[in-house]
Amino acid sequence: MSPTDPASSTRPPRIAISGTFHTDDNRRRVRLNAAYVEAIERAGALPFVVPPLSRLAHAAAIIDACDGLVLTGGEDIEPDRYGAARDATVEETNPERDATEIALVEAARSRACPTFAICRGLQLLNVALGGSLVQDIPSQHPGPLDHDPKGPRTARVHEVDIEAGSALARMLGTTRLRVNSFHHQAADRVAEGLRATAWAPDGIIEGLEWGESGDWWAVAVQWHPEELVIGPEPVPDRSLFAEFVRRAAGPRRD
Ligand code: MN
Repeated sequence: MSPTDPASSTRPPRIAISGTFHTDDNRRRVRLNAAYVEAIERAGALPFVVPPLSRLAHAAAIIDACDGLVLTGGEDIEPDRYGAARDATVEETNPERDATEIALVEAARSRACPTFAICRGLQLLNVALGGSLVQDIPSQHPGPLDHDPKGPRTARVHEVDIEAGSALARMLGTTRLRVNSFHHQAADRVAEGLRATAWAPDGIIEGLEWGESGDWWAVAVQWHPEELVIGPEPVPDRSLFAEFVRRAAGPRRD
């Protein structure tokens, strides 16, 4: 779309949001926590849920049809995707979803499609670009901080330190934020092109951003801002969705 297209100022941006398959009651269903679509709609964009695809070539067509990509939380990623032997602590995986989301990242990267990655999404973004994961924080990175305390989805349970001047710090307006936490894995070796810009007090990576050059807006957080922004109260996390949607609404840089 060209910036002079009259539709560009009136039509909300279309956001592809990755979902998964889950079988219950002997039926295979598409599943996505509703908070993601609510957060995207509240930020003024149109949510389009993308299930695991049987034809990976469709991933590029979906990115071509959308203005932004949200990678969401969920299953563990197959360790062979980052060249590791599977540890016994790895939980449910979904190879179809891994393949689909990696194809979505590749398409988004090559088209400079703005990408916002959350929880598993941060890990998937890192793996898709060549990074690796801590397969299980409690056993491989033991410490007093519990990253998966199983409390309310909106409970802010640990601090995050954010690099001054980073995209995350600029959006959030702070270099320290208390966040919710529902993960037993984390980014380990950071992929080339990404950099860590937020950390928990135990050193676990809580934020990743694409480089310095600004050719691709890609931001990832390990916490769950979508759960924090759907209530009525103003929270800094809302600025993450606002900026993502603003980028998605802007002209592509490709
Ligand atoms: Mn955490």
